[in-house]
Amino acid sequence: MAHLDVVPVADGDPWSHPAFGGDVVDGRIWGRGTLDDKGALTAICEAVEILLEEGFVPDRDVWLSFGSNEEVDGTSARAAVAELTRRGVRPWFVLDEGGAIAHDAFPGVRAPVAVIGVAEKGTTSIQLRASGRGGHASTPARRGPTARVARALANLDSSPMPARLVDTTVEMLGRMAPHVSRPLRRLFSGAGRMRPVVARALVAAGPEAAAMTRTTFALTTLSGSPAHNVIASSVTAGVNIRVMIGDTVEDALTHVRQSIADRTIEIEVVERNEPSPVSPLDEAFELIEATVREVFPDAIPSPYVMMAATDSRFFTAICDRVYRFAPFRMTREQREAIHSYDERLGVDDFLRGIDWYRRLIEGLPGDRTDPHPETRDRARRRRRLPRLRRARQRRPAGLLHSPVERRRFEPRRARLRRQLVRSRAADPLGTRGAVPGPAG
Ligand SMILES: [Zn+2]
Repeated sequence: MAHLDVVPVADGDPWSHPAFGGDVVDGRIWGRGTLDDKGALTAICEAVEILLEEGFVPDRDVWLSFGSNEEVDGTSARAAVAELTRRGVRPWFVLDEGGAIAHDAFPGVRAPVAVIGVAEKGTTSIQLRASGRGGHASTPARRGPTARVARALANLDSSPMPARLVDTTVEMLGRMAPHVSRPLRRLFSGAGRMRPVVARALVAAGPEAAAMTRTTFALTTLSGSPAHNVIASSVTAGVNIRVMIGDTVEDALTHVRQSIADRTIEIEVVERNEPSPVSPLDEAFELIEATVREVFPDAIPSPYVMMAATDSRFFTAICDRVYRFAPFRMTREQREAIHSYDERLGVDDFLRGIDWYRRLIEGLPGDRTDPHPETRDRARRRRRLPRLRRARQRRPAGLLHSPVERRRFEPRRARLRRQLVRSRAADPLGTRGAVPGPAG
């Protein structure tokens, strides 16, 4: 999976290269969508085209699903799920954007971490509203709507929901333990036994780590009086809630009511999404993990809970194994550029991402439970690439391409690289002229 739409570019954002230029400068592809999510989109298409050229037939069906409004409401992904349901398709697993090969992701962990999202928090928005007799600013009354909303927000801000460590985070810390300094190592490897202590440590480590431990409330929009000398009769405030695995939207709403403790404030739920189910770490996850080890031998593959929402959340209705991962190396600065300015992807990282998708598809095992004889038998009959496979098995550890593979794929990689480098005039990512969607 991937999505075609991008968030808009804010006026005045200091882009080093035009946001919709697709310029290739200093070995990087610059532009809105290179990381979110046209990089993955084009890498998937490129990997599939390479395999088609090779005459490769996968051991099971591969469906490509590209949403067109992920950043807004994901209705196209919902429509894709409806269509697959109509056709009776239940995917073995689903792979969408989300995680990455994250460099400098965790304090104290030097190695890059290949974070693979096995669940995502539920994105929910509420609006608080206080009403009252507005009027002339020369005769104010106490506890007007503005003051009540301000107090409610201050109360909510100072009373976070309790922090706790979910199993996925325990697993992640355990995988990172061998790569951290000695004092941290004991904390990471023993996280399962010391959940409250570790949860408190994560909260203290800053907002990003804290968000891994609990449902969060972000105070976002605010509106009241239109003029300095007018007392508002209606004041509203938006709160964006990310519901943690194990909590429900109802738990979050109860917390809001209790912490603001003001019955005169109306609470309206604008958008309601429960957290996703947690996908298992069984054979499909192992395939993703093995492909990461093969293409990115320096990275630590690890499950994690995603904070942001993806189109794949709709696919949990037809599939138990939904994973969120894009095979691109991303530094902290690159991750910060997503939905911001100077979004960019290294050309080599892009090419390696194509390799990753190709290997993932090549590695798909056949479906023994497939009730449809034509696909099951096709899987049995399919034309293998024995020479290529044997070459891959013989490959010395750490070498990405065997000589046979290099001969097969290098011409295409070289062609692609030439196209990318010429892209000041062309538009390889199709970003130019694309209609940016409103912010999601
Ligand atoms: Zn995205």
